[in-house]
Amino acid sequence: MEKSKIGVIGLAVMGENLVMNMESKGFRVSVYNRTTEKVTRFLQGRARGKQIQGAYSLEELVGQLEKPRKIFLMVKAGQPVDVLVEQLLPLLEEGDILIDGGNSHFPDTQRRTEYVESQGKYYVGCGVSGGESGALRGPSLMPGGSKEAWPKIQPILQAIAAKTEDGIPCCQWVGNGGAGHFVKMVHNGIEYGDMELICEAYHLMKTLLGLSCQEMHEIFARWNESRLNSYLIEITGDILAYRDEDGEPLVEHILDTAGQKGTGKWTVEAALNQGSALTLIGEAVFSRCLSAMKEERVKASRLLPGVHRKFEGNKEEFLNWIEDALYASKIVSYAQGYALMRNASVSYGWKLAYGDIALMWRGGCIIRSAFLGEIKNAYDKNPALENLLLDSYFTDAMEKAQQGWRKVCAAALEYGVPVPAMTSALSYYDGCRCERLPANLLQAQRDYFGAHTYERLDAPRGQFFHTNWTGEG
Ligand code: NAP
Repeated sequence: MEKSKIGVIGLAVMGENLVMNMESKGFRVSVYNRTTEKVTRFLQGRARGKQIQGAYSLEELVGQLEKPRKIFLMVKAGQPVDVLVEQLLPLLEEGDILIDGGNSHFPDTQRRTEYVESQGKYYVGCGVSGGESGALRGPSLMPGGSKEAWPKIQPILQAIAAKTEDGIPCCQWVGNGGAGHFVKMVHNGIEYGDMELICEAYHLMKTLLGLSCQEMHEIFARWNESRLNSYLIEITGDILAYRDEDGEPLVEHILDTAGQKGTGKWTVEAALNQGSALTLIGEAVFSRCLSAMKEERVKASRLLPGVHRKFEGNKEEFLNWIEDALYASKIVSYAQGYALMRNASVSYGWKLAYGDIALMWRGGCIIRSAFLGEIKNAYDKNPALENLLLDSYFTDAMEKAQQGWRKVCAAALEYGVPVPAMTSALSYYDGCRCERLPANLLQAQRDYFGAHTYERLDAPRGQFFHTNWTGEG
């Protein structure tokens, strides 16, 4: 029997679609699923007549693969991955490769890579973005882990990945250890931020300007032809035009509460652990938490005083400012996300290639946008760029957008419309611009109550002083 190029474990929605994608690119694939009826169902259904071979045990799967064996795990993240690693290791030989394509938490991938390498095999944690249709038509793939495995899996992963307009695969080697899953996690955090910003723009247009869904649909369609061109802007335009059976916009019939799964929270936790100011994504996660308090909000909406004024400005002008606010805040969000990756890269010794990361996100994934091309250009010009805001393209863009952005934030505060992501982004921007922040006072307070000492402007860094603030003995 002809050997397969790769084995895939996990025939749920993602696994099945990845297998179909691999097979369509000419790779013979072997498949296995814990509940083996799914193997039979798949072979008799979508896989019929294709270069896809079924296995009913892990031993059988391993026996069907070309050496070095490459096994792609597409199962529920967490313990199932550990269980499978334990079950597979005794069946594998030196040099065989395990690839985890699930949404694993990066410290788990870090740990698993070390463990599998200690057993003489290779481990790759590969972020996969683009959902079900991405898996089938071309996902964005972010592989990291055992670098030695990369030349062996590169032809398959780059063949199945999305491609940019100029044909470059949205799949490059990210770094060792948990780097691939870390970058995928930040991608998801940025996705949270992009979605929150769009929701804030919608909320302003709806509640402050009183625009209809049809009007907003037209604005989003227009924005999608501009510098904001992106998948999320495009689908938001489509959503606003979609009518329910009663002829009303469906979006207005949807309950306004959102949950937050692991990855947004993990990104913010990682930022806290790295001491990285990831304020916008943090606000995006907390906005979802606030939205989930539906009953409390309904009650409070009748009790808490607010502002009851009609918008008095020029609507057309204000719409342009909202576009400025969205664009400028988005730049801040990516600047913060990239700063987090930079900090983590130093902490973990990953040597992340920031331009390649922008390239990987240009196609296949939810945050794909024209804007990522500018980020790629910025890091191509200066791979050691400290902060995206300092690249001349983005500095210039902030210069042009900041007045509109400030007007929108000021109006939102004045009229009582919550825009936490836009305002926190502006505070971060202004914080970055401050040569002198009030942390001098903070250090004085710490020294006053806890003798924590402080450094002085007129003394070398690292020299610490303490003052007896009260003069008491
Ligand atoms: P899923 O619902 O997350 O997982 C179901 C699959 O995991 C089934 O094949 C299931 O086998 C298997 N599984 C669960 N526990 C197992 C165990 N202890 N041992 C062996 N297999 C076990 O499936 P999914 O939505 O296709 O996602 C797969 C992975 O991709 C997840 O990590 C997910 O977070 C990630 N991901 C998903 C998306 C998406 O849009 N859905 C996008 C990117 C990444 P049984 O059939 O036997 O239960």
